Amino acid sequence: MKDQWKWGTDNDYWVRTCAWSAPGCHPVGCGLKLHVVDNKLVNVDGDEEHPVTNGRLCVRCLTLPEYLNHPQRITTPLKRAGERGENKWEPITWDDALDLIAEKAREIQGKYGMDSIVVIQGTGRQAALYAPPLAFGVFRTSTTLMGISGYSCYGPRCAVAEFVFGTGYPELDFASYFPDSYDHPGYEVPKYIISWGKMPLTSNGDGFFGHSLIDLMKRGSKIITIDPRITWLGAHADTAIRLRPGTDAALALAFLNVIIDEDLYDHDFVDKWCYGFDQFAERCREYPPSRAAEICEIPEHLIYRVARQFATNKPSSLMWGLTFDQTTTGGQASHAALAMLAICGYVDVPGGVTVGQPSTFLGKWRVDTRSNLAPGQFENRLGAKNFPAADRSQWVCNPDITLECLETDEPIKLRMAVLQSTNIISPTNNVQPQRWYAGLKKMEFTVCRDLFLTPTAVALADVFLPVATFPELDGVVLPHYGRNPFFVAAINKAIDNPGVRSDIEFCIQLGKRLNPDAWDYKDAVDFFDRQLHASYDFGFDELRHMGVYQGEYTYKKYEKGLSRGDGKPGFNTPSGRIELYSLLYPMWGEDPLPYYHEPYYSKYSHPELAEEYPLILTTGGRKYTSFHSEHRMIASLREIDPWAKVTIHPADAEKYGIQNGDWVTIENWLGKCQMKAWVSEVIKEGVVHCEHGWWYPEQEGAEPNLFGVWKSNVNLLLPHFCVNPLGFGSIYKEMMCKIYKAQGLDG
Ligand code: SF4
Repeated sequence: MKDQWKWGTDNDYWVRTCAWSAPGCHPVGCGLKLHVVDNKLVNVDGDEEHPVTNGRLCVRCLTLPEYLNHPQRITTPLKRAGERGENKWEPITWDDALDLIAEKAREIQGKYGMDSIVVIQGTGRQAALYAPPLAFGVFRTSTTLMGISGYSCYGPRCAVAEFVFGTGYPELDFASYFPDSYDHPGYEVPKYIISWGKMPLTSNGDGFFGHSLIDLMKRGSKIITIDPRITWLGAHADTAIRLRPGTDAALALAFLNVIIDEDLYDHDFVDKWCYGFDQFAERCREYPPSRAAEICEIPEHLIYRVARQFATNKPSSLMWGLTFDQTTTGGQASHAALAMLAICGYVDVPGGVTVGQPSTFLGKWRVDTRSNLAPGQFENRLGAKNFPAADRSQWVCNPDITLECLETDEPIKLRMAVLQSTNIISPTNNVQPQRWYAGLKKMEFTVCRDLFLTPTAVALADVFLPVATFPELDGVVLPHYGRNPFFVAAINKAIDNPGVRSDIEFCIQLGKRLNPDAWDYKDAVDFFDRQLHASYDFGFDELRHMGVYQGEYTYKKYEKGLSRGDGKPGFNTPSGRIELYSLLYPMWGEDPLPYYHEPYYSKYSHPELAEEYPLILTTGGRKYTSFHSEHRMIASLREIDPWAKVTIHPADAEKYGIQNGDWVTIENWLGKCQMKAWVSEVIKEGVVHCEHGWWYPEQEGAEPNLFGVWKSNVNLLLPHFCVNPLGFGSIYKEMMCKIYKAQGLDG
């Protein structure tokens, strides 16, 4: 990149930076050039010098000026003036707000114990990186989590990858480690890419850039999608398999059945680097394509076709999405999908999946912040003993058990909440939000950190702290939160906004009040400078000038002793190999081999419910115009997507008397919500897809309306429990419901 991050005059200049939330999205680090006049963002361009994004931006970043300069944006700390829920506030200074929070923390921890403060983070935001250090290092509480049932976003996939591969997150190899990108010598374009339960063009999840798929398609990659919907990607795919939601594990096992039965697997790799193949093959024999076709409700020949295409066209690859986190046997589907990559020889090879080892940058510091806890405090955090598998891979409390604790005051009393960029009662992935609402109402003191007054802030906050957007902060972004970190990039402050604080600034400034020994950083730049120097031979100023630093990538690390801590060849698992047969799972009461069982709620597992609730409810599909519950107030994005939408197949629409554009109610025994019907063949017959994250910032904010947060809230229909002994696997994508015409948004 150009060795220049800021140019122009004092009051009319451009800043080169990389994006992370807020506003959305995941830590992808897209490159932007920001035009600032008189300290106001006036224009945004893609940065053509960025080695991965090459100037491409999506609509959320293009509307950045509208977001930053929005009249509803809060840019000064607020203290509640009326009762909670009245939406009455008075401004306070940052010093007063931080002093008040420190005073309340001391008082509440003095009365109820250190763990009585719960820190809850939102998904994908920078807050996700800094929330555990805020809990452990500032408040010295072990109670921290993302409030989603079964940890069901990204964490389960990371955990299964750790158990089976002994690595960080396996990502499709899109040449992201190399400055010369796809032209890097030795890089190979994948022949087939399976995009499974994922639509990366809209979501750019965690560490993947959707447009890279388009690049690869132009270079010859063929796409296979597995999804109950035909997305844009599905419409351009070689094969689009529309399976019954929640049956992914059966499909993966049937692919494996064909690959093994037809002897299409990589014998050399399996013999040298995989553990338990014989038992694994035996298990796969239980899933012939005919059986899986029936379970998944798909044509049998597609299973043969995709299995053969994937195994015989080398290299091919696979990207896995939320269905692996949000279905009853998602963990087993993950195990089987990873096994597909392994036995075909696509792990850590050009054009397969990269498996970078987790970065020490920030990673070590984050672990070290646990030393601020008392002995045993971390090990005994909520739910750790109930789900030791999740405990081994997640740093946080079990969300299902924490919710019960909020409700029952057992085993501890939670009395102060810090809601770190989470709009928890508006549906992100926070199912049964009314339970979180009631539980958090019991708090004696609640702090919300966000950019706008959300329904959550109005309902629950005593103090509201405004968060800096990425153009307003100095920081560092690393894709996959460091779990497969193909670059580190500078986030450069372009706008001076003294009323807002970044996540790390909040940690430092509150840390100085509550635990000063751990927070001797002068400011964010000092923090990142010291952290970078601990892992690299450069600091923050050098990174600013580099823009993006791409480390080196070595393929086949397992051959070179680079995948294990002890320097021996192999993988970092108990057997030293990829564990097709897990040596860990029996320890946690789980079958060592992947399996399929029927979704917890379905016409087969609960036939008594099927007559009244005949449709499969699935949710969580991403959109171009929003990041979860964010962006609902951005007029040009709402013009594109004005209302919450449920997608329904024409045959189902006709059955229930629904026309395209009708308001409808989606309902089951847990709750109901209203959305507009989009009648389209893109969805599998018998399935409805409900958008998530809807609230209406243009509506009354005070209770009981709370910006209409309960009106289009699909999470009201989803249960808060997980059924798998590992602690993963919940029911976002495979619920039951009915649908009928409504008068409007209010039912
Ligand atoms: S994925 Fe899109 S919205 Fe997200 S940072 Fe990149 S350009 Fe911006």
